[in-house]
Amino acid sequence: MRRKTVLIPAVILLSILSVIVLVLLAQTLWDKSGANRAGQQDLISAPPTVAAATSPPPTPEPTPAPPAYTEAVWVGVGDIMSHSPQLPGAYDAALGVYDFNPFFAEVKDILGQGDWIMANLETPIAGADFGYSGYPAFNAPYELAEALKNAGFNLLSTANNHSLDKGERGLLRTLEHLKELDLQAIGTADSQEEADSLIISEKNGIQMGLLAYTYGTNGIPIPQGKPYLVNLIDEDRIKADIARLKANGADLVTVALHFGNEYQTAPTENQKSLARSLVAAGADIIAGSHPHVIQPYEVIEGFDDQGNEKRSLIIYSMGNFISNQRGDSKDYGVIFKVGVRKNVTERVTTLTDIEAIPTWVHRYKPDRSFRYRILPVEETLAMNNDELLNAGDYDQMKKDFDMLVQRLESMR
Ligand SMILES: [Zn+2]
Repeated sequence: MRRKTVLIPAVILLSILSVIVLVLLAQTLWDKSGANRAGQQDLISAPPTVAAATSPPPTPEPTPAPPAYTEAVWVGVGDIMSHSPQLPGAYDAALGVYDFNPFFAEVKDILGQGDWIMANLETPIAGADFGYSGYPAFNAPYELAEALKNAGFNLLSTANNHSLDKGERGLLRTLEHLKELDLQAIGTADSQEEADSLIISEKNGIQMGLLAYTYGTNGIPIPQGKPYLVNLIDEDRIKADIARLKANGADLVTVALHFGNEYQTAPTENQKSLARSLVAAGADIIAGSHPHVIQPYEVIEGFDDQGNEKRSLIIYSMGNFISNQRGDSKDYGVIFKVGVRKNVTERVTTLTDIEAIPTWVHRYKPDRSFRYRILPVEETLAMNNDELLNAGDYDQMKKDFDMLVQRLESMR
């Protein structure tokens, strides 16, 4: 890690400086104590720190200024689904509102460690007048977007096969609702002008360019003459968009791709060649979703066009972050936490630590309707004190955790 190679010389330099200061301090004190022995008692009360301050060490050999760094953290999760069984248990009949905050309560602390916090929103949030619906044509309550906001999310990929479930009007209403909550939608737009405008999100002085595309819209045609509504995957276009972001000051680029085959635990050749080709074209993070199960991730070590070392990350699929799907690992997802470090002096940005944190959707039924909670698997196992889980849940989670880690790491 470059962080270490920077720290080591700094530590050595500090040690040398400390020794010089100590030697000078000792000399000064020796001189003073000599003077005191000569009878100047009023100097005895002078604390040694004052003596040190009045005789600064000589300026050390001039060395080139160390590069200045700034850091931020990217956090990404997979699909936010809204299946019909998720609604009744979140409904407060007395108040007539939904409360989806419990979905995210157990992972809010982890999400909060991010600066950019991103998910794939796989449902329109078109408003109550469209009627709420689950699969196959989704529409989730506005309160789901509020809960995402409360959980810390600030970036949502809205380009997926459900973008047009409620038609053009549903897509536009979703964008309005997300704007009200200051949630940045990526991959759908209300006009050509909005589709053409670059999305660059700055955190701690690092400019992150953001793009999102989907393989399709479930056979629902994109309205004639309005291709701006949903970004479709087109390799040449994505490469041009990456180049445009970099030319406009993006230090790094995240590309959310809705692709791959549902329920397949490994990426297709198509996924691999597209993702790798986009990394070669300058993408830093590929945030994959759609298969509804976790797929492996890859870390690509290489060089940028200036010859600087560069790490890029391809996440093929982050699985379901929240859904009603169960079994065959569809009830698992993963939070990716990725360090981003920019050398401000040389204007070079790279990924540092990459952490994959598997999550499980715990579904339980305290009354007539289901409740859902996203649990961080490893932490939940370690704490071993969750009152809503039984021994069977723990056994299953333990087995699944090992399997998921193996799967995640299988392409590293
Ligand atoms: Zn999908």
